[in-house]
Amino acid sequence: MGFLNSSLNLLLPLLPRNVLRPFAMRYVAGDTEGDALGVVYELNQLGFSATLDILGEHSKSVEEAKVITESYIRLFEVIADSSLDCNISIKLTHLGLGYDDKLAEDNLFALLETAKRIDNFLRIDMENSPYTDITLSLYEKCKSRYAGVGPVLQAYLHRSETDLKRLNGDNVNVRICKGIYREPEESAFHHREEIRENYIKLVQAGLLDEAFIGIATHDIYLIDTLETWIENQAISKDSYEFQVLYGVPMGNRLEQLLEDGHKVRYYIPFGDQWHSYAIRRFKENPKIASYIVRNFFRK
Ligand SMILES: Cc1cc2nc3c(=O)[nH]c(=O)nc-3n(C[C@H](O)[C@H](O)[C@H](O)COP(=O)(O)OP(=O)(O)OC[C@H]3O[C@@H](n4cnc5c(N)ncnc54)[C@H](O)[C@@H]3O)c2cc1C
Repeated sequence: MGFLNSSLNLLLPLLPRNVLRPFAMRYVAGDTEGDALGVVYELNQLGFSATLDILGEHSKSVEEAKVITESYIRLFEVIADSSLDCNISIKLTHLGLGYDDKLAEDNLFALLETAKRIDNFLRIDMENSPYTDITLSLYEKCKSRYAGVGPVLQAYLHRSETDLKRLNGDNVNVRICKGIYREPEESAFHHREEIRENYIKLVQAGLLDEAFIGIATHDIYLIDTLETWIENQAISKDSYEFQVLYGVPMGNRLEQLLEDGHKVRYYIPFGDQWHSYAIRRFKENPKIASYIVRNFFRK
């Protein structure tokens, strides 16, 4: 990363929230459940599936973790009542992991009971590496009781290939992403090409081993390469879907994927805890990061 980009990344989180908010709203469906469900409805009308995420992580009290779990349960109910093509993605630290691991486990099981009752699916987002082992072992614990649950593996982690092999014993439904956190050199690839290579390796290994793969990336090189490979291997269209984050510009590539008969899912975050999520998105988009900072100092 160049000196300019590193400086922008340090400055961004220091800017006032009211300066960041208009830019953040490009990546966030709004503050309320109603805002988010409106976006899901519109995307469903266009042929896209959706995943909703209530923004936030690292709950710091039993109460906070319970409130968020109840909000997710209500969200599952509304999705079912409105017949939306939409599932849910959660962060375990939002349910209490790291604060009280047993609380997080209980909250996770409560969510999965609801998902089972309404026949929906719960994705467990992957956070930074101190949480990888516990996240995967909680996933394995629930998978023995609930079919509608799936983890995320990050292509930048050296361990993901081994994790995928182990998890796939029980027909895993796994999202593969590059990974968003800063991880040490000993455990993670840092070069773009190495991450891409591992990403392709993981998706191909999973599909050949009959896993369901969420191909979560905006990297057109990866999308094109994997689409061609999938077609050449005659992989069933029921075995995978492409996934993108709401608000990331993709030209008309997603519409093309739909036209070619692939499933495409938008990950749609909402809620008032948008700050750290938006900062992560800005850092992936140096143009917008630079625009926000320059504009702020010009004023
Ligand atoms: C559906 C989904 C779920 C995810 N879940 C997790 C998770 O659970 N854990 C985790 O660690 N990470 C998660 N991520 C984030 C992921 O790990 C990457 O950080 C992020 O997707 C960027 O990587 P990329 O594959 O899009 O490739 P990149 O090489 O970063 O980006 C590819 C192209 O997309 C453009 N682009 C990327 N982001 C933006 C942006 N914000 N604004 C404008 N352009 C952009 C880039 O400029 C580049 O041209 C998820 C991503 C997706 C799509």
